[in-house]
Amino acid sequence: MRFDILTIFPKIFDSYLRESLIKRAREKKLLDVRVHDIRDFTSDRHRKADDRPFGGGPGMVLKLEPIHKAIRALTKHKTQNIKYKERTILFSLRGKKLDGRTAARLAKYDRLILICGRYEGVDERVARHIADEEISIGDYVLSGGELPALVLLEAVARNLPGFLGKIESLESLRGSHPAYTRPPVYSPGRGASWKVPPVLLSGDHKKIRKWRKQS
Ligand code: SAH
Repeated sequence: MRFDILTIFPKIFDSYLRESLIKRAREKKLLDVRVHDIRDFTSDRHRKADDRPFGGGPGMVLKLEPIHKAIRALTKHKTQNIKYKERTILFSLRGKKLDGRTAARLAKYDRLILICGRYEGVDERVARHIADEEISIGDYVLSGGELPALVLLEAVARNLPGFLGKIESLESLRGSHPAYTRPPVYSPGRGASWKVPPVLLSGDHKKIRKWRKQS
């Protein structure tokens, strides 16, 4: 599955995409993630991707033109008769709240194009004419769509066959239960002791299963 991320801060993505399961999925070619700098699609000398809002008010708005040009460059194949199942998503506070069901639905596309807003947001014509849908990751304001893009990417990728190793997929089927590891007793000081529930140390797998189900 391919992700194209449009942002004015491409470096934000470098380290996260180079670690752990996402790194492995990219190496296995299960995930193809490309980050594009919106400024590369500007046409002025200053590579200006934002401008003042019509009607006044504080803050800046991401411009329509560079985003449109970027999308046009990314979707050239559309005119060459290559059919992909693809979807363009704009991150916005007004969008549909991301949940597990939405992530599973989006995992069925061959390609997602993610547009990250910044400042006061994005020229409304991007939502109206370019994006297929708007998504919010929750009712709190972030400084940009970059973290939402990483959240969505990971939530969607977990649905791809082969993304999770055997162990992690067993985990998600089982649902979450409290987990402990060594030591069985920890002494934080002042005579206290923090213990692991004895059932987990009992070796009785039937009992352990029951305990986990109830926890
Ligand atoms: N003043 C604006 C805030 C824009 S925040 C407003 O009230 O709408 C800047 C950008 O960050 C947004 O355009 C969006 O792309 C992104 N963003 C911020 N919080 C978000 C969230 N909870 N979910 C998804 N995107 C978010």
